[in-house]
Amino acid sequence: MTSKSLHSFLEENIADLKEKGLYNDIEPVEGPNGPTITIDGKELINLSSNNYLGLATDERLKKVAKEAVDSHGVGAGAVRTINGTLDVHIELEKKLAEFKDTEAAISYQSGFNCNMAAISAIMDKNDAILSDELNHASIIDGCRLSKAKIIRVNHSDMDDLRKKAKEAVESGNYNKIMVITDGVFSMDGDVALLPEIVDIAEEFDLITYVDDAHGSGVMGKGAGTVKHFGLQHRIDLQMGTLSKAIGVVGGYVAGKTNLIDWLKVRSRPFLFSTAVTPADAVASTKAIELLMESTELNEKLWENSEYLKAGLKKLGFDIGDSETPITPCVIGDELDTQKFSKKLYEEGVYAKSIVFPTVPKGTGRVRNMPSAAHTKEMLDDALQIYEKVGKEIGVIS
Ligand SMILES: *Cc1c(COP(=O)(O)O)cnc(C)c1O
Repeated sequence: MTSKSLHSFLEENIADLKEKGLYNDIEPVEGPNGPTITIDGKELINLSSNNYLGLATDERLKKVAKEAVDSHGVGAGAVRTINGTLDVHIELEKKLAEFKDTEAAISYQSGFNCNMAAISAIMDKNDAILSDELNHASIIDGCRLSKAKIIRVNHSDMDDLRKKAKEAVESGNYNKIMVITDGVFSMDGDVALLPEIVDIAEEFDLITYVDDAHGSGVMGKGAGTVKHFGLQHRIDLQMGTLSKAIGVVGGYVAGKTNLIDWLKVRSRPFLFSTAVTPADAVASTKAIELLMESTELNEKLWENSEYLKAGLKKLGFDIGDSETPITPCVIGDELDTQKFSKKLYEEGVYAKSIVFPTVPKGTGRVRNMPSAAHTKEMLDDALQIYEKVGKEIGVIS
């Protein structure tokens, strides 16, 4: 008996994915990720980025980022706990706490890293975590890393949450119990039932953790899903990303001072991985300032979303029950979905297909992400292309 070589493992598994149509070929974008993008020399209307407010290419952010390169260099130089905490990181964290209306905030290199960092700094093998079944991959991995017992809760099912919370408490098996949820669920665009979740959490003394990666900049006039519901003083950990609506890169956790103090000494990505660059930090700070000063971009985002949704609905597409700008266009069959997305591409719209296992079998969809940066003309063009392709493939009549 010999063990399998890396080469044969890779050859077999890649071939298997390709055969099942699950291998993802990545198409590089030539230039900025704006409302239109260029791929392979072809200009496309971009309905796939998370750049909700268009800030990834905003001139005001570009300006401060360039200035930061001149004043602070291109790298932080060390992990935060040695001497990689620069004044610009502190300014970012102050601004984040203000933005989230919490006592303090800590920044990380990415949203994914936040979930790796914060969950395992708080929870351990003697604890349990009640986790919505549709939570993001980084939440799932963060929970696994903590070694706590993971209790899956049916999606947004408050009876199931209450029942499982009660069971967990009454079992006496756990030291601490956390309830963790996305603020906005990224595939369907529905919003977590935070007021109910918080009530249940308070009834059973649960720690509350909201990952608002898709909510910040979008919900609550930009301030996020937690503030949308006015719950900022009743949620223990508010996690977010600086890479979606904020347009840059990085992540953060906002909460009480003692929580943030603890994360600064106990969360491993903070201790063992270098901080975001000065340009990232100042650009994020600037973005948050812009959001706090004006709701103009946020309003534009919602206006464009309503416009696209109404247009698709009128054409007869099934756009699900999204409550946010995330606009799925459900096709159903996996191969049809891929064909649909490919046709859109050929006609000039970039909207990626999302199929099993990311979403349940038979609910393949093309996910549209309208942004504040799209013009009416771009959205009209996209709708025309949707109509043409939808009729060709027979999704609409
Ligand atoms: C995108 C996303 C993340 C990861 O954020 P990054 O900053 O891109 O690492 C985490 N959680 C949720 C719910 C997300 O949608």
